[in-house]
Amino acid sequence: MRNLQINGERLWASLMELAQIGATQKGGVCRLAASDLDGEARRLFIRWCEEAGCTVTVDRIGNIFARRPGRNPDLPPVMTGSHLDTQPTGGKFDGAYGVMAGLEVVRSLNDLGYETEAPIELVAWTNEEGSRFSPAMVGSGAFTGVFTLDEALATRDNNAPDVTLGGELERIGFAGPAPVGSRPVAAYFEAHIEQGPILEAAGLPVGIVTGAQGQRWYEITVTGQEAHAGPTPMPRRHDALVGAARMIDAVNKIGHAHAPYACATVGFVQVSPNSRNTIPGRVFFTVDFRHPQDDVLTAMDRELRAACAEAAASQGLAAAVEEFWYFPPTPFDGRLVGRVREAAQAQGYPHQDIISGAGHDAVYMARVAPTAMIFVPCVGGISHNEIEDAKPEDLTAGANVLLNAVLESADAAGDRGA
Ligand SMILES: [Zn+2]
Repeated sequence: MRNLQINGERLWASLMELAQIGATQKGGVCRLAASDLDGEARRLFIRWCEEAGCTVTVDRIGNIFARRPGRNPDLPPVMTGSHLDTQPTGGKFDGAYGVMAGLEVVRSLNDLGYETEAPIELVAWTNEEGSRFSPAMVGSGAFTGVFTLDEALATRDNNAPDVTLGGELERIGFAGPAPVGSRPVAAYFEAHIEQGPILEAAGLPVGIVTGAQGQRWYEITVTGQEAHAGPTPMPRRHDALVGAARMIDAVNKIGHAHAPYACATVGFVQVSPNSRNTIPGRVFFTVDFRHPQDDVLTAMDRELRAACAEAAASQGLAAAVEEFWYFPPTPFDGRLVGRVREAAQAQGYPHQDIISGAGHDAVYMARVAPTAMIFVPCVGGISHNEIEDAKPEDLTAGANVLLNAVLESADAAGDRGA
């Protein structure tokens, strides 16, 4: 493993300059996908890439690829990047860090006069956030075949249903000519702020991301019988809310029972008729289960169904448990994860393995190419917030790990495969 270094001050300066595009009063960034500000950030990124000697290609869904040639032009590139769009009250680092860290890798290789065997490609994916246009991760999803191009282009603005992502990309000049998804990728690395509290609490600058959590989402409808709150004696009630309350408590207990990795959340409840002197006849609520292992998610599913059946029976209710969405756990590529870990060790950075709790473009890329991620801590574990912050030294550490992991793959491509 080589032990080269990026220029941390240049990385920080680029992040701060990029953050001025869409800067908010509270120190955050509002740069919604395919907005004028997104276009401005894209043009700045392209200018920087071209100044660094890269050849830029934009595909039909607006994904930007910037290629630094290698010795062997026939080899598929090692790709790294993230996204430039933000939440409406987003921060300076979510997404921007991965794109700027990749750019800093290329700039540092230029400084060193270092020629890799395989090409290196920087990428800025379109609409990762899914805030203006839902769902999230549309650019990488189209690239990897999760969405068809037509589906991706037809995605509608949540606040203006006649405005589509495709139309807005054309308007800002980023409905590119390149076909979507036709580029081979030898390996994909993505650096990102953790967006959670684990690394900061452990005092570690680098997290080796071994994969992303799987998710199971449910919609549960509990049906009892509406009745007057006064004349109906307690033993004769079929109170849907009492049943739902027991189910919600069970969801929380299931989360704790599969600690430390399980997450179990009820975030949406509707009570009907929602009247203070009527016994609730119907309750609708949602469940969000997450865990990195599929067999544990399956066990949580069993436990949820059993708990709902028991709670319903205890109150004389009916409970319908519908699975709404399933997203399997995504383990990252063992060899690439190993390279990230070795790069952290070679640089002397304390680190730990970590699972991504959020979705990232890397989760879709893992379907088509060997993939790994690098996390750096963010202050207070806070993200999707204007106060999102990160320490320059941690950002430098993550980019140094990215540089050496990318090099290991780009130089291995010729003989041992990426
Ligand atoms: Zn992100």
